[in-house]
Amino acid sequence: MVSERHPRYRSLALRNKLVRGYEKGITSAHGLIAHGRGEAFDYLLGEKTTENALEATKVACAYLLTAGHPVISVNGNTVALAPEEIAEFCTITGIPVEVNLFHRSVERITKIADYLRACGVTDVMTGLDSVELAGVASERAKVDKRGIFAADVVFVPLEDGDRAQALTRLGKVVLTVDLNPISRTALTSTVTIVDEFTRAMKNLVGFAKRFQAENSQYRLHTLKATFNNSENLKASYAAIQRRLQVLSLR
Ligand code: ATP
Ligand code: MG
Repeated sequence: MVSERHPRYRSLALRNKLVRGYEKGITSAHGLIAHGRGEAFDYLLGEKTTENALEATKVACAYLLTAGHPVISVNGNTVALAPEEIAEFCTITGIPVEVNLFHRSVERITKIADYLRACGVTDVMTGLDSVELAGVASERAKVDKRGIFAADVVFVPLEDGDRAQALTRLGKVVLTVDLNPISRTALTSTVTIVDEFTRAMKNLVGFAKRFQAENSQYRLHTLKATFNNSENLKASYAAIQRRLQVLSLR
């Protein structure tokens, strides 16, 4: 038990969620390592949402709300970290979820799908009725016919670089969350939210509520049209640079 006043409280609480996910058979052992890579970048960013990450989240939300056939791709990490936020976002927007795993097993897919349904996600696709994406060597080439395969906009947080590239090549709008602003995923996606996934999901839910209340298609289209992902990524490099600069002068 760690006190809420402990400086690493939130980071430790997220680790606990992942360890519990691992014990339930939801998160893979590789997923635990991937989380560590994310944590290192979060430390450099100051473990808070930057202005540019908030802007990217807003734009991702605009893409999801204006899509013809959007889908949210989840894996063992995202489901262990923020199941309530995923469920709330899906309830508000009516967007379906596809369980899509890098380390794929029917057992884990079924566990994750059951867990999501128990958390309140009604439309869960399992990808068990799948087709293979061209140009992806791993098991992640398999996507659901009704889900990612048919989608025009795919939200794929914590995605692998190869598949982000393959999805972009197929002409899909790729929205991602990745704390590593220099990963291939970050560089090839249409919109990269450089933020911790649970923080990003909370903000995404907030924007979805706000935009639905505003009901302005013009505003959503303007957000999409004026966004530049490489400029937004540069702001993340600058944020890390500034933080290290401050520390180096102390
Ligand atoms: P790529 O294949 O895109 O070049 P990679 O091999 O580092 O990058 P993967 O291991 O395939 O990426 O995916 C994990 C990515 O998710 C890492 O870049 C990591 O920084 C990021 N990540 C892990 N946990 C979180 C989290 N909680 N929030 C946001 N990003 C995270
Ligand atoms: Mg990778």
